[in-house]
Amino acid sequence: MGHLDTHRTPFVFRSPLHLKVFRVLVTVGFASMAALVLLYITGSIVQSDIIYLISLAPAVLLVLDLIMTVQPDMTPYTPGANDNASGAAVVLTLAERLKEEPLANTEIWAVNSGCEEVGCYGAAAFLREHREELREAYFIALDSVAGPGSGPCYITREGMTRPYRSDPGLLALADQIAADRPELGAYSGVMALGFTEGAIGVKNGLPSLTFVNLRPDGVLPYWHRPDDIFENVDADVLARTQAFLWELLQRIDSGQ
Ligand SMILES: [Zn+2]
Repeated sequence: MGHLDTHRTPFVFRSPLHLKVFRVLVTVGFASMAALVLLYITGSIVQSDIIYLISLAPAVLLVLDLIMTVQPDMTPYTPGANDNASGAAVVLTLAERLKEEPLANTEIWAVNSGCEEVGCYGAAAFLREHREELREAYFIALDSVAGPGSGPCYITREGMTRPYRSDPGLLALADQIAADRPELGAYSGVMALGFTEGAIGVKNGLPSLTFVNLRPDGVLPYWHRPDDIFENVDADVLARTQAFLWELLQRIDSGQ
């Protein structure tokens, strides 16, 4: 599965440092909400002005979060060459190749969804509709797989607040391919700054594996930025990712 929609270009995605601040503010924002509830209850019992003064601190942090949340809606959409024309293209190319060279024992469903960037609603709707037919399926998500300086990067865990873990069996298989095919330059990574459609597979109880080509330093190149354009896509990374996935499908099919 890939996705066809693109994200807006929020201020917080401008650089890796902006993203670090964003991550801290989101975490602090959740803590502030919890703190405000407790302070409200305490304040209503003890009726002390001090409590109301203390509550100003989390309130200010939440105002910052609010600004951070509203600002993106005033920005243009990214062209989305890497996120996620790259993933959608790999889905289509693999589907085309599978028509010529079908797997012996495995049926493949190739899906490019919508509404990923706002919470993976396309993937969720798809699984709601087809969960029963897909009860023996593996769920493989492809998102942003052609950033320069990255390689095929399979994700062990994703999500900022709640962790979604990839299937241990699929991870072991990916590790084995990475070891057997060093020329592909594959490695694993953690997607801590958000979740992809892989998380929807995990939520639905399907053994899932996500590919997001983070650089080895954890940065996702041109992520949600106006310069996520065709010129900044790395054809070699894209080709190696596609080769890795082809190998993965062959090994799944042969029951490894
Ligand atoms: Zn994406």
